[in-house]
Amino acid sequence: MTAPDLPPDLPRPPKLRDDCFALPAGVDWTPVDDALARLNAAVTRVVGVEEVSHAQSAGRVLAANVVARRSNPPAPNSAVDGYGFAHASTKDGDQVLPLVDGRAAAGGAYDGAVAHGEAIRILTGAVLPQGVDTVVLEEDCTVTTTHVAFRGPIRPYANTRKAGEDVEQGAEVFAGGHLLGPQDAGLLAALGVDRLDVFKRLKVGVLSTGDELVDPAMQAASDRTYDANRPMLLQLAQGWGFEAVDLGHAADDRDALRARLDEAAARCDVILTSGGASAGDEDHVSALLREHGNLQAWRIALKPGRPLALALWQGVPVFGLPGNPVAALICALIFARPACLKMAGAAWSRPQGFMVAAAFAKRKKPGRREYLRARMGADGVEVFASEGSGRISGLSWADGLVELPDGAVDIHRGDMVRYIPYASFGM
Ligand code: AMP
Ligand code: MG
Repeated sequence: MTAPDLPPDLPRPPKLRDDCFALPAGVDWTPVDDALARLNAAVTRVVGVEEVSHAQSAGRVLAANVVARRSNPPAPNSAVDGYGFAHASTKDGDQVLPLVDGRAAAGGAYDGAVAHGEAIRILTGAVLPQGVDTVVLEEDCTVTTTHVAFRGPIRPYANTRKAGEDVEQGAEVFAGGHLLGPQDAGLLAALGVDRLDVFKRLKVGVLSTGDELVDPAMQAASDRTYDANRPMLLQLAQGWGFEAVDLGHAADDRDALRARLDEAAARCDVILTSGGASAGDEDHVSALLREHGNLQAWRIALKPGRPLALALWQGVPVFGLPGNPVAALICALIFARPACLKMAGAAWSRPQGFMVAAAFAKRKKPGRREYLRARMGADGVEVFASEGSGRISGLSWADGLVELPDGAVDIHRGDMVRYIPYASFGM
């Protein structure tokens, strides 16, 4: 084989520089924690208040403290199916008590009083009739139609629940800023709290940019890229309790993008864009935001994920996420989520991570915090085989991220590392 004939005037490509993968010298890279602190200081709540029923409260942020309208339980009741009586009328050894006529059931209280020395058939959840303070489990009894027998001593108040032992009427159960979950709807209902003041849902617009992008419903030539970020970011925003606004896809064209951002600013409280956020020729998002949107291009010491463009378009915050889907997701989880939650009225939050044993080895240089696609296995947390940020399948392989600190680390199998399950990011 002979070398191809090259034109004599073809310039020789430059050699790769030794430091080609190093961080640019003299550039101030903002550590992730500093960037988060700056973001926390920069954003404030942008939404108003509305009233909702507890039945539609999951994913909403409380705008005011919530106080119990009544105690839970509201009255002393039985924790089991059995027989109730006054503890003072029993003693050690075998007990035989006459049964009153009738019974006490949940929702079917016994109207009369149970006299000292008598017992009553009682079912779980039944309010303790007058004269009853203690219940014996039915499995510990023998019964006839007229009497119940069991062996003493029975502990006073056994198998009963005190009024307000869980929550007292008037107690503050939630503070404003609390993000409500389905479990909270249960508690609110139990405490008789129907109407709640919550913050209006944050309207989060999602815009994809890039000439190469097409909708996955279309046939596409192989030089085209299906728009992966938009469905991902829209569904993330929705899962975080926000109103997700699909702003579609804009070509790499300054005017088209400007029109989209104008429309977005009129409809949304915050805009998430992806793609075009670097400083390249086709990076129109950053160019436009630099001209008209007060762009702050944050060079964050983060892998994967730089750059993150932050700007205001007609007063509406814009998060310019990276185009690469892996970086876009990670930047959305690390930066956009806490910022959006705060804009939605919630407290600033840090995802809950856990120190777990590494089922991998890795040596990392200092300079950038790293997030690895990770999942829990039998021997500890595993990481995706490739760190290539184009490997979008790794996001689905994973069930969370491993966070490696800003400094250098040399991780051996069995060392403890910080694993953050997707659930901690509200996924
Ligand atoms: P950019 O930041 O615009 O230079 O994009 C970086 C890389 O991410 C390029 O390979 C883009 O084609 C790709 N990319 C940008 N936006 C998307 C998207 N919405 N879905 C999938 N890939 C994207
Ligand atoms: Mg692009």
